[in-house]
Amino acid sequence: MRIIRIIIPMVIILAGCTKGGLTKQEKAVISGQGQVMRVLTVDNREDSLFLRGESIDFSDRDLKSRAFRELAGKMVSTVTDPSQDGVGIAGPQVGLARRIIAVQRFDKEGEPFEVYPNVRIESFSGDIVSGQEGCLSVPGERGSVPRYSVVVVSYKDPLTLRTVRDTVEGFTAVIFQHETDHLDGILYTDRADSLWVDDR
Ligand code: ZN
Repeated sequence: MRIIRIIIPMVIILAGCTKGGLTKQEKAVISGQGQVMRVLTVDNREDSLFLRGESIDFSDRDLKSRAFRELAGKMVSTVTDPSQDGVGIAGPQVGLARRIIAVQRFDKEGEPFEVYPNVRIESFSGDIVSGQEGCLSVPGERGSVPRYSVVVVSYKDPLTLRTVRDTVEGFTAVIFQHETDHLDGILYTDRADSLWVDDR
């Protein structure tokens, strides 16, 4: 009995040490590809199942790792590549069930792409407005999706490891809602009030 009492807390402590750490397989997904990563799409059965999964946070150690910096850079290269030309991308779309998104900040000067790890939407407010959306993972389709016009997002700054909060409005708020949905296995087609074929 006494041994069990000692062993169980040890197991819990050891599990705690590795919690959230990038696995070998995840590191291979990041480093095993070129600067433009393969984007998973719903017309592939395996991809489709993966896109429906829940994503988890990065550990502080991961946020300081070379693999994380490599991933952040590759996600921006992928979403901005002429073959994709998107305004946002989320971890599961490049094969990683991790809470990370890259968002084009249309509300900032120069409209830069920024990467947000361990991101969540803390609150939704303002009017609900329907607007057109598409998704790199749902080729050949577009839809009209109702979204809140203001959100407060939180994420972890990979340099300071502090949690940062930001109030975002308008189209950039829509992108944050679309991309964080991906981290919960939700696609815009689930929320759309209408969908149509887009064969451009
Ligand atoms: Zn999407």
